[in-house]
Amino acid sequence: MTALLEVTGLRVAYGKIEAVKGIDFTVHTGQIVTLIGTNGAGKTTTLRTLSGLLRPTAGTVRFDGQPLGGVPAHRIVARGLAHSPEGRHIFPRLTIAENLQLGAFLRKDTDGIAHDIRRAYELFPILGERARQPAGTLSGGEQQMLAMARALMSRPKLLMLDEPSMGLSPIMMQKIMATIRELKAAGTTILLVEQNAQAALSLADHGHVMETGRIVLSGTGPELLGNASVRKAYLGED
Ligand code: ATP
Repeated sequence: MTALLEVTGLRVAYGKIEAVKGIDFTVHTGQIVTLIGTNGAGKTTTLRTLSGLLRPTAGTVRFDGQPLGGVPAHRIVARGLAHSPEGRHIFPRLTIAENLQLGAFLRKDTDGIAHDIRRAYELFPILGERARQPAGTLSGGEQQMLAMARALMSRPKLLMLDEPSMGLSPIMMQKIMATIRELKAAGTTILLVEQNAQAALSLADHGHVMETGRIVLSGTGPELLGNASVRKAYLGED
């Protein structure tokens, strides 16, 4: 298997506060890898660093065979790493179609963009039905779908999803999780950050448990789902 993303000894600090304290993990092409852990564990900080929004204080990141150190965020997107951020960050006054177009801002292939917008509407029919409406009129779950669809518009080699289930009803959450499964089946490689450990581990080939900036446990999705300490700490069992 080819390593698409290789993170080695990554450290990230906000001033004097070290939020990520030396983590190592790998994502292979075609896999879903998840980072789970409670609030403040450093998951979002890790994704923001991989996207080039934060600078690490130490460590290396290799993506698709090349180092990412010092590469600006827009160049990282162009290399094939897309980020659907926590809290979604869609543009509420722009229409759904315009939000999707913005996800393709680095592309020039008009036909390919039109094709991918049609594909987004197949994946998420509600987005097609409401294409001309302001994105701010969508429900929280629908906005999450738009954020995912927008990230896919850059045709990423790796899609990073930060808390896609946050604030969603159980039905909406199942829909999002089913879509992540579909994306994987279609060949998308995914790095998934989730507080909903059960949902994330059920989907993931590999998972890493983060606590206060460190990876404290790693394994396959089924191994971690069956691990007694994970079940106790993250799945609410006694
Ligand atoms: P959450 O699910 O709440 O986002 P997380 O695992 O993603 O949790 P991070 O958001 O990466 O965790 O936060 C890691 C640590 O860094 C926390 O202690 C947090 O308070 C701190 N932190 C995050 N953003 C900043 C910031 N802009 N300035 C200072 N400290 C920050």
